[in-house]
Amino acid sequence: MKTDILIVGSGCAGLYCALNLPKDRQITVITKADARGNDSFLAQGGMCMLKDEADYASFFEDTMKAGHYENDRESVDIMIRSSKDVAEDLMRFGVEFQKDEKGELLFTREGAHSAKRILFHEDVTGQEITGTLLAEVRRQPHITLLEHTTMLDLIEADNVCYGAVLLMEDGQIEKAEADYTVMATGGIGGLYRHSTNFRHLTGDALAVALRHGLELKDISYVQIHPTTLYSEEERSFLISESVRGEGAVLRDKNGERFVNELLPRDLLTKAILEQMKKDGTEFVWEDLRPIPEEELKRHFPNIVEHCREKGYDVTKECIPVVPAQHYFMGGVKVNHQSRTSMEQLYAVGETACNGVHGRNRLASNSLLESLVFARRAAQDIAGQQEPAKKKEELIAQLDLEPYRDIERLCEEYHRMVKEEIEAATKAAEQAV
Ligand SMILES: Cc1cc2nc3c(=O)[nH]c(=O)nc-3n(C[C@H](O)[C@H](O)[C@H](O)COP(=O)(O)OP(=O)(O)OC[C@H]3O[C@@H](n4cnc5c(N)ncnc54)[C@H](O)[C@@H]3O)c2cc1C
Repeated sequence: MKTDILIVGSGCAGLYCALNLPKDRQITVITKADARGNDSFLAQGGMCMLKDEADYASFFEDTMKAGHYENDRESVDIMIRSSKDVAEDLMRFGVEFQKDEKGELLFTREGAHSAKRILFHEDVTGQEITGTLLAEVRRQPHITLLEHTTMLDLIEADNVCYGAVLLMEDGQIEKAEADYTVMATGGIGGLYRHSTNFRHLTGDALAVALRHGLELKDISYVQIHPTTLYSEEERSFLISESVRGEGAVLRDKNGERFVNELLPRDLLTKAILEQMKKDGTEFVWEDLRPIPEEELKRHFPNIVEHCREKGYDVTKECIPVVPAQHYFMGGVKVNHQSRTSMEQLYAVGETACNGVHGRNRLASNSLLESLVFARRAAQDIAGQQEPAKKKEELIAQLDLEPYRDIERLCEEYHRMVKEEIEAATKAAEQAV
């Protein structure tokens, strides 16, 4: 297979990158699952935007504070300054953000934001944005979208990327030659027993990065959400922080409260895990009954309904909750143009790390960050001179035999990424 630009991933980052590339290039977008199977479709809350200059300083400060001031200041500046333009671009594609009766954009607010600056579409903002981008991609004759097609490895020589080895939908293994490759493979939740992410998001870009000695950044920075509904199912369902803000309490196996429920996420997670260990349980209980029934149903209809579907009446009983992996702040190290440390290879979205989030992500900054830096990758590719001359011989000689045992390869990749994150986490803990 030959293509000018290969994009791995059909989340908001991959799709928006594709739409910002010149139309005279042949672009191929691949995705491991079906086109809608990605975390971008799950985003509920919204996407931040700089409304006016007066909010710049506090938007910047909120982002830095959430990131424990370890953020890359220039990345934060780029993200905030580009936000309005990206939002307008999305609206040109047909994204409908909530507006008032005068047609003015409405903004909402989430935890740790000092102002209302979040654009939203009901409680399905990610679906509205990504669904619109996907429809636009499908309309473009120069973009080919291949579903159920998995990147197994990069094709590389002397630190230059010439494409990727792919597992095709029909089970064949193919070499996809490309002048430029963009990894937009999302998060790492599939590596955790409990995660809000899709199970097939297993940090594959990190695995191939490790295999080829690419630089990684901040990989111990994994965001854990303290309260998700306990289940053995595919994905963990979030029991939003605001439920605790409204009065829900946490209880141990004997029904006793054991913690201040409004502690910051990391401390609360630690307390819950310690309690589970002490009690020998797989979860603790969250009691939503202190919240008046009417308020529960008005403010949290999705949570009430989801729990009902799973057999819990939150107005009458406690629900089992457990901390779950939610977001990955670290990733493949990139510069402000989303270039990795390998020539002709870019990384965008959750799998990349340009330092914008620092140690922790501010709510609703991730869709924005993904879009802003995906567009910068596209602009950077568009502005490049000729790519390095292809190593035809190398590509022809590349042996596909080692890729045939997919199960073993995937196990190896998962082990490599987990070990790398664990080692980085241990090192970070020791440094404290
Ligand atoms: C429940 C939930 C709620 C959220 N709410 C918000 C919110 O309100 N606001 C906000 O800003 N952020 C939110 N986020 C975070 C945000 O959704 C993600 O960070 C963002 O969508 C990541 O986009 P992405 O394009 O990088 O990855 P994704 O959208 O996850 O896409 C990754 C793509 O890569 C593909 N892929 C992976 N590995 C391979 C491979 N080896 N070969 C081929 N394809 C591969 C996948 O199939 C998929 O298409 C939320 C996340 C979750 C889980």
